[in-house]
Amino acid sequence: MNSPHEILNHHFGHREFRGQQGAVIDHLLQGRHALVIMPTGAGKSLCYQIPALMLAEISMLAKISQPNASPSSPADSRRPLTLILSPLIALMKDQVDALVSRRIEATFINSSLSGQQRKQRYQAVAQGRYSLLYVTPERFRKKEFLEALAHRKVSLLAVDEAHCVSQWGHDFRPDYSRLKEFRTLLGSPTTVALTATATMEVQADIIHQLGLEPADVQVFHQGINRPNLQLMVDEIGGEDEKLERIEEAVDQGSLTGESTIIYFTLIRTLSAFSEQLRHRAIPHIVYHGDLLRQQRKEIQDTFMQGHSPLVLATGAFGMGIDKKNIRQVIHAEVPGSLESYYQEIGRAGRDGLPAHCLLLYDPHDLTTHMRFIEWKNPDPDFYHRVYNLLTTDQERVLAFGIEWLKKQLHAGSAHDHRLETALAMLDRYGILQRGHRESDLIICDDLPDVLIDQQRHAEKIRRDREKLYVMVQYVQHRGDRMEFIHRYFGLDCKCSVT
Ligand code: ADP
Ligand code: MG
Repeated sequence: MNSPHEILNHHFGHREFRGQQGAVIDHLLQGRHALVIMPTGAGKSLCYQIPALMLAEISMLAKISQPNASPSSPADSRRPLTLILSPLIALMKDQVDALVSRRIEATFINSSLSGQQRKQRYQAVAQGRYSLLYVTPERFRKKEFLEALAHRKVSLLAVDEAHCVSQWGHDFRPDYSRLKEFRTLLGSPTTVALTATATMEVQADIIHQLGLEPADVQVFHQGINRPNLQLMVDEIGGEDEKLERIEEAVDQGSLTGESTIIYFTLIRTLSAFSEQLRHRAIPHIVYHGDLLRQQRKEIQDTFMQGHSPLVLATGAFGMGIDKKNIRQVIHAEVPGSLESYYQEIGRAGRDGLPAHCLLLYDPHDLTTHMRFIEWKNPDPDFYHRVYNLLTTDQERVLAFGIEWLKKQLHAGSAHDHRLETALAMLDRYGILQRGHRESDLIICDDLPDVLIDQQRHAEKIRRDREKLYVMVQYVQHRGDRMEFIHRYFGLDCKCSVT
């Protein structure tokens, strides 16, 4: 039987565990639950991949040592499987490809596959193939999936990007709020939840949503400990001053030819600054959500290869950016939460050499976020209006589509996500059936009380505003800024490791 360390060497080709990986793996192998908080790129995947392989191996060995055991008698004769819940289909494929290239039996089942392919994979899962299976939480809605799983013993459940669980978190994903139900369905397996950032409140929420007791879940919390990051804030007034400060910072960066990311909240501001930099013949590339997927990929590759050291980007840039020598991360607009800010500055100085993180703070930029908060949180009245349109005007919705619906709701602005959020929530609560086309939206039940609860809505808005206020406090903080961040995340400054 291989030890975790041997598996790390032989299967993954790494010499040593990083940070708390080894401790998490030992803990899970004892059948105990864990919440793992490690910065992006720290190596969270190995925390469940190695136990997955070991659990599969243990079962093989047990079979070999008991060749005459009746195959049908104990429930545990079902082959163990590690089930990984992950919110992003795009990331699943990369992870699975990497595992398969190391001859590990892993796969995913999601909507990127054809119906035929999915059927084959369900069958293979039922027949005992694969040690690791990646799905989105929405997969639990499919009867075929549940039937296939019934043939397996899920010995480890890994919930990746677990902050999506929390409705107070920055990336709430409705189906993540059904985790307790899923765990019970799977026979309450050992569970590990993983995320890059979680405030104390979100940590408690994740544990609660899993249906676990805090005392039964060990929290492994590993922050960014980078004494090489210099955190700075400049308070400015107006666009001209902002541009001036950006130019200065870019000039400093271009002396060394090393990489800089400038983050923006709005594509509009990003484009305006890009234009200005072009006038001044400052070479750069831009990255945001309005570009085509292929363009985004090319730009990311160009940046990763170091051909263009300066990128102007929105928050969409960064998932999977593991470039070691980013020397500067500048925020041209204040981010909406310290969670986002911490993630984004975490991309600087991974090589351990000095790196600068400059936040340009113009109080005017807060109004953008105030509007975003309204646009992220549909109020009870909005839910009623959507519901009424979908029930009484169904034919026009089918004929004219989502854009028409948006117009009726006066929700046409690019950042107004109230309709998307409302539809996702109606879907989550099972009162909306979707067809093939985007506009195939059929209401099949009453509006649930929870969505039209005034108090709940007010509480959500209050919490989102509080997060923004933390950014203001960060700006005004006169002491050690890293300490401020660590305190917010409940991290002990001294014990965090990289
Ligand atoms: P996270 O999920 O925390 O963002 P990943 O699990 O995707 O991070 O890992 C990021 C990178 O770090 C991967 O390329 C992985 O191969 C590498 N990695 C993970 N653990 C180790 C280790 N112990 N030694 C060397 N490289 C590692
Ligand atoms: Mg990850």
